[in-house]
Amino acid sequence: MEVNNRYITIKTHIEGAPKESDFELKSAALALSIEAGSNDVIVKTLYVSIDPYQINRMKSYSSSHKAIVGAARITPGEAIDGHGVAKVVVSGNPEFQKDELVVGLISWGEYKLVKGGGGLRKLDPMGFPLSYHAGIFGYSGLTAYSGFFEICKPRKGEKVFVSGASGSVGNLVGQFAKLFGCYVVGSAGNNEKVALLKEKLGFDDAFNYKEELDLKATLGRYFPDGIDIYFDNVGGEMLEAAVANMNLFGRVAACGVISEYTNASKRAAPNMLDVVYKRIKIQGFLTPDHLNLYADFISTISDHLRNGKIQSLEDISNGVESIPSAFIGLFQGDNIGKKIVCVAQD
Ligand code: NAP
Repeated sequence: MEVNNRYITIKTHIEGAPKESDFELKSAALALSIEAGSNDVIVKTLYVSIDPYQINRMKSYSSSHKAIVGAARITPGEAIDGHGVAKVVVSGNPEFQKDELVVGLISWGEYKLVKGGGGLRKLDPMGFPLSYHAGIFGYSGLTAYSGFFEICKPRKGEKVFVSGASGSVGNLVGQFAKLFGCYVVGSAGNNEKVALLKEKLGFDDAFNYKEELDLKATLGRYFPDGIDIYFDNVGGEMLEAAVANMNLFGRVAACGVISEYTNASKRAAPNMLDVVYKRIKIQGFLTPDHLNLYADFISTISDHLRNGKIQSLEDISNGVESIPSAFIGLFQGDNIGKKIVCVAQD
């Protein structure tokens, strides 16, 4: 048997903000059979995670390309890999049986032949929706958890600022920080997001950064006693403003710099005198370095979800053809919470 596998590619490398014309929906016949004796697996995509880091993989050059395997440059015309949830359709691998659910590195497409089953693991949904396993139980959740607890090393009562606060990582950082007993303020790009942070997710305060003319003064207003922890999802002027408002021995988790991903001329220049004299620690991190926390993270987050202490915020589009607009939307602030595309229900 054969299927028509539809998948998304880039036409050329992308240097600025991504646009629809940069992408192509291709299709190719895929035989649903594997070579005798191989331990390959063919999976059908159910939910795929849509993540900002992919834009750096789409550039002709980015310092991220050589950082870790998962950040390698994407070749135009080829299928794009990404994390998500899938179902095994054919398996020559004794670890995976037909119709089993798996999670791991799949693709921005309907099917993928996974050599040796590498990068996949069996999925036990634990009674949660499958989409959660492409989102809150995936890298987004672990990023928030490891970044906040391992990198920021919070103490109860500390004052925490989170940028990109209504996004996939940011909303969870804020929820973790509140549960832990910190004072939390978030920034987001529109008033609907700001209201959600304050009214539904329990942030102490939040503001629309697009309405603020002087971010340094804005943060001074929200943090009259200074910031102890800044969880940075955006970089740029927000990082500069946060550093200017940090307390002595403040910690900055440099999680991502989305405001700089699509603008090569934009680079944050925090005041290094502040960094030195206030003994501020700014630490970049990549979640794959913190997989040792995964079991702890899963047990904590599933408990919190079951007893209603943490909410999962998802933004789901449907169909493989919606992947480019879902991805482009990340850089325009379209998503509220974790952006996921449901490629197939089962
Ligand atoms: P997300 O926040 O769910 O989605 C992106 C959001 O970024 C948008 O909704 C938009 O919200 C905001 N944004 C877009 N352009 C912006 C700009 N120019 N200035 C300020 N904000 C902008 O994405 P995510 O998956 O949670 O990722 C958040 C950050 O964490 C990204 O920088 C990502 O690369 C990083 N990350 C790092 C790791 C790691 O291992 N270190 C892992 C996962 C993610 P607004 O409406 O608020 O503008």
